[in-house]
Amino acid sequence: MEFNRCSRCGNFYLSKDNVCPKCLAKDNLEFSTFKNYIEENGLNNSLNDISGETGISVKNLNRFLNYENMQNNIQSKNDISNNISKNITNL
Ligand SMILES: [Zn+2]
Repeated sequence: MEFNRCSRCGNFYLSKDNVCPKCLAKDNLEFSTFKNYIEENGLNNSLNDISGETGISVKNLNRFLNYENMQNNIQSKNDISNNISKNITNL
């Protein structure tokens, strides 16, 4: 059995989630807030600005950036901008 330490509250827990069961709902909520923010604004603003606008702490924003599906999200964003620049070049 391996214990994880919750990065939100510091409690130890056993599940494979990123945070403890107590924090999971809040974490998911903030994560989707963050994803929505990125979809609308991209990642051009500093984490401090994003934190101010979303109410999510910079520490948690950093954590979200390391989440696996966040990486995919940023990756597909890059694909989209690559496609746009390709299209412009082809014009
Ligand atoms: Zn917790």
